[in-house]
Amino acid sequence: MPIDLSTLNEPQRQAVERTEGPLLVLAGAGSGKTRVLTYRIAHLVNDLGVAPWEILAITFTNKAAKEMRERVGQLVGPRARGMWVSTFHSMCVRILRADAERLGFTRSFTIYDDADSNRLVKEIMAQLDIDPRRFPIRAIRGRISEAKNELKVPADFSASVVDPVGKVAARVYEVLQQRLRGANALDFDDLLLYGFLLLKHHPEVLEAYRARFRYLMVDEYQDTNHAQYQITRLLAEKHRNIMVVGDDDQSIYSWRGADLRNILDFEHDYPGCAVVKLEQNYRSMGNILKAANAVIANNAERKVKNLFTDQPDGEPIKVYAASDERDEGRWVAGRIEQRHGEGMSYAQMAVFYRTNAQSRMIEDMFLRAGVPYRIVGGTRFFERQEISDVMAYLTLVVNPADDIAAKRVINVPRRGVGKTTVEYLEAQAREQGLTFMEAAEMAQADMTIRAATRSAIGEFLGVVREGATYSGDLRKVVEAIIDKAGLIAALEREGTEEAFGRVENIKEFLGVVDEFADTHTDDDALFEAPTVTASPSGEAAGAVAGAGLSATGDAAGAADVRADAEGEGAPPVRVLRGDSLPDLIEWIRLRTDLDSVSEDGQAVTLMTIHASKGLEFDCVFVVGMEESLFPSMRTMQDPAGVEEERRLAYVAITRARRQLCLTYATQRTLYGQTQVNPVSRFVHEIPDGLRSVTGVGSAGFSGTGWEKRGSRRGIAGSGTEAGGGRVYGRSSAAGSAQRARDAGGAQAGRPATRTQFAVGDAVSHKTFGAGHVTKVEGDAIHVRFSKLGQVKKLLVDYAPIVKV
Ligand code: ATP
Ligand code: MG
Repeated sequence: MPIDLSTLNEPQRQAVERTEGPLLVLAGAGSGKTRVLTYRIAHLVNDLGVAPWEILAITFTNKAAKEMRERVGQLVGPRARGMWVSTFHSMCVRILRADAERLGFTRSFTIYDDADSNRLVKEIMAQLDIDPRRFPIRAIRGRISEAKNELKVPADFSASVVDPVGKVAARVYEVLQQRLRGANALDFDDLLLYGFLLLKHHPEVLEAYRARFRYLMVDEYQDTNHAQYQITRLLAEKHRNIMVVGDDDQSIYSWRGADLRNILDFEHDYPGCAVVKLEQNYRSMGNILKAANAVIANNAERKVKNLFTDQPDGEPIKVYAASDERDEGRWVAGRIEQRHGEGMSYAQMAVFYRTNAQSRMIEDMFLRAGVPYRIVGGTRFFERQEISDVMAYLTLVVNPADDIAAKRVINVPRRGVGKTTVEYLEAQAREQGLTFMEAAEMAQADMTIRAATRSAIGEFLGVVREGATYSGDLRKVVEAIIDKAGLIAALEREGTEEAFGRVENIKEFLGVVDEFADTHTDDDALFEAPTVTASPSGEAAGAVAGAGLSATGDAAGAADVRADAEGEGAPPVRVLRGDSLPDLIEWIRLRTDLDSVSEDGQAVTLMTIHASKGLEFDCVFVVGMEESLFPSMRTMQDPAGVEEERRLAYVAITRARRQLCLTYATQRTLYGQTQVNPVSRFVHEIPDGLRSVTGVGSAGFSGTGWEKRGSRRGIAGSGTEAGGGRVYGRSSAAGSAQRARDAGGAQAGRPATRTQFAVGDAVSHKTFGAGHVTKVEGDAIHVRFSKLGQVKKLLVDYAPIVKV
């Protein structure tokens, strides 16, 4: 059965059916770009007989990739397997794993996360005697990252810089690359840089992928950086069947090297390219779309688009003027409860903010009100100390050359290997050109080191050596390594509350291993590639062989060969078994902040606007609509900076399907400082007729342009004399109910009999699950939640919590 294209409008259908030659789909938010891309893949595979492995689709996040794979799977069935749907980074990892030797790495290379890279750069700066007060590590790392994204290797970069910071960065960059290579490690930017270099300098590798990927598709193309752009160009050269979709109005990652020109110049780069414009928005109600259009119209640097909808106008955009950030959080919580009461699911609601720091207050208010929520980004489980320790051990088992990991845990748990010994080993390694682990091995016979220390080092080496011999069930392997390392035992001996929490986190980590094992069937598609064993069409498959895709000598011996389930003339497919340790490590390393949205459970999503790209929700709240916060202070002096912030506002507004609420606070405490800022210009750019303003601080709102409103006035208009305003704010039923509840009035539904809690009680919370009481403090209790790995302070009467 052919794919049903009748659910697409005319230009969408054209974009799906125009499969040959370059194609640019340039369209506004919610016009179906991602949907078109998905249908196009289904159409190619299902109707045109294109083999899934001939398709490469690039998404912005791993989560988006997963969704796209699922969606295509729904349309075409199991054939979708074998298709490469991934982010640029994941794609580069695959390409690099297959041919790492060509670049002087081994296949089991480690991927350094931000914390690892930071530690390494810090070390190098110390070694080079660079003063971090004069040359902040952030600035140095920023420059190096920029260089990598521009595909400049150290020599190129060094030749191109003239400023003092750049010159220092160039020195660090050079050493950094040597050290990374020595550790058989790549950082995030390296994945793209080396991915590019591999394709660029190894024609047989490039040729194999070019021959293979007959169809390339890239979503969110407006946010590609130079490296991604060049990689795409290289791959698309042969067949030129490249489709990119994007929206210049949604380019929001220029601070990370994204280059809007990539989309604007597409027609120039690919002469003869077809352009499809999509103008109908299917996502949002009329008022929301009009608001978005009105805001973005203030940008000068853009391709003007005309986005319309057939949907009714819907409700006006609600603007709530809060007195402060607590009032703001309370109001949002109340409103959410009201919507929920009306039947909207929590999962269909989201709260966006400009910076992560703003989430804390919202979180606080949600906890009190019992609103279930999840935070995307924010708490980074994998960055916790104990989890990093576990990861370091696992990494060392796979890649003993990883010096950063080795130094991290040689004395974790404490074995009596002190700083002096570590420095001594470091020096030995440097002088003799060894890895840190090799230097540690040598030290076993080094009589200048104390016997006790030598034995401690031996113990550490033993953990790693033995770990490499374990096999079988992945969870058991991980458990055995943690056990052998003595991580849990040491924490248990410590016996403090904090140590107890860390143990729980490590146990939670084992849950992550299970999750990996459970989901690796889904992720299989990520690891499939054609092999040469039975080559149906000599030339193409032979070329693939040249790319080394058929090799099965992975470090953990985890590769096996099996025939593609679908057969149909497709070459057999090589699959890296998902249950191997290297795969687990890679899977964890490639998880980004943007991916941590878990599907399970009904909860409101809290995230930065940056993380919200591509998503949609019935009801969206954007908090902190104040000058200096949004647009952020940093960007306000620079017209280009303000334009990017405005695109961010456009992204935020266009995530909403049915309802949009914007809030601002006349006074806000953030980063420990109290500020008074005027209402964001982006609120004023929404025409009066589309919005309704309520709230404590609303008295000072109308008729006063942001540019005229003095900051002092903002507070006068809200705080003391705004009695009317306050009443106005309370006129929202949910708001007042919420406030009454929060104020702790017995009349607002305080339970008649009060549960008594004592330290040690096991409790269960609606959102956070199981935990135990660690402290009782009047009306409040402190609970450590196992899953969260954190202690939360809760009000006994209001938190949705029961004794179990
Ligand atoms: P963004 O710019 O935010 O990434 P987009 O252009 O990728 O948005 P999609 O996410 O593909 O847009 O589509 C937005 C919504 O509109 C989705 O819910 C999608 O299912 C729906 N949609 C798109 N096209 C149609 C159509 N022809 N008929 C019905 N619904 C559609
Ligand atoms: Mg999209």
